[in-house]
Amino acid sequence: MKISLPVLPLATPRQRYSCHGCGNCCRDFTVQLRAADARRIRDQAWDSRLGVNPIVAFRGREYLRQRTDGSCVFLLDDGRCRVHAEYGFESKPIACQMFPYMLAPSEASSQMGVSFACQSVIENKGKALNEQVSDALKIVMRGLPETVQPRPRAAIGRGRLAERGELDYLRGRIITWILRESPMSHRVDGLAWIAQSLSTARLTNVRGERFKELVKILFDALGDELPLHPIAPPSLRQVAMLQGAVFARTEDPKPVAQGAPGRFMSTLSQLRRSRLWRKGRGATLVPAIGLGWSSSVTFDAVSTLPGIHASPDSPLCDELLSRWMRASIEGGRIWGSGYYGWSAIDGLTAFVLSIATVGWLSKLHAAGSSAPSPSLSDLQAAIGRIDRTSGRAIWLGGWSERMRLAYLARDDGLRRVASVQF
Ligand code: SF4
Repeated sequence: MKISLPVLPLATPRQRYSCHGCGNCCRDFTVQLRAADARRIRDQAWDSRLGVNPIVAFRGREYLRQRTDGSCVFLLDDGRCRVHAEYGFESKPIACQMFPYMLAPSEASSQMGVSFACQSVIENKGKALNEQVSDALKIVMRGLPETVQPRPRAAIGRGRLAERGELDYLRGRIITWILRESPMSHRVDGLAWIAQSLSTARLTNVRGERFKELVKILFDALGDELPLHPIAPPSLRQVAMLQGAVFARTEDPKPVAQGAPGRFMSTLSQLRRSRLWRKGRGATLVPAIGLGWSSSVTFDAVSTLPGIHASPDSPLCDELLSRWMRASIEGGRIWGSGYYGWSAIDGLTAFVLSIATVGWLSKLHAAGSSAPSPSLSDLQAAIGRIDRTSGRAIWLGGWSERMRLAYLARDDGLRRVASVQF
């Protein structure tokens, strides 16, 4: 028997969204299909009308084919969706119907989140989310597996299941820390310190109130502890790990433009490109990321650019970063079913690395226009890029990311690569 899970709206105040029809989500955006989507698209018999099969299999999953410019094969010249135009909204793939909303089910409810890959979300344009909850719920409640099938509560650490109230408490303390008034580099450093401290703690017998007490002590100590533990600049190997993380979070193999390479060839190609990123330094050019990103920036240019603290847009950048971090955490997107089923501690660690990659990418984007520091639009481009893959790209939930995080857990690696980006 199926159980219906209540959908919890995103609680982040001040987050706005209305669709402004920019069409960006249909361009340069890989759409993964569920089995029911693929069946529906096949039933619509597009092959003869499009002259090509709109579905491409890649690494055991099915995707919508893209044209060589990255746009969806169904995108019409006037910006409309051809599936929507001919068969109606509910005939589109679920990912298209839901975007930019996302759902993270747990044991008794499903948490709604929102993707910052959407330009309106990132610019905070439109109606306040909490004024349009019922509209959003209508979209996400149509019998989706995320609203009818409970999932286990996220674990605290690997092999250590969470007890009631522990995750809420941890989430609350993280958000309070993120929103405090202090330089962004300080707040990011604090998050990295918490993630590192929790990942080395023995939590098997620290449960319930004792776990909350530990989290409280760690956060209460941050203000005093961080200045006592200044960090050295990252080593070359730690920088290589960060650059590998940037690659993994921006990777888009575009299997659908020319047809899908086999699983072995695509994995080989991904490993080769990953190596280019990890080895990149000095006057070597940063490999191209995609539309809107310069391909003539050197690794040196990125590493020598100051972070957002030096930008005239610094207060606006701070607002955006804080809003994105908060929405990610409250939207259930950094651990549990919203993040590859990862535990809270592993998910938090990966999230800090994602924050670091946002800082690095904002500098890359700024360097592409020879700006002296990242502006708000550079940061928007960076967050938009990161949020495309977060929780979706299969390799981010795999062994290579685990190894990267394990390496950065040593020698203050996460702190050394993270705070310097801001
Ligand atoms: S199927 Fe339609 S809504 Fe989905 S990406 Fe393609 S054009 Fe856009």
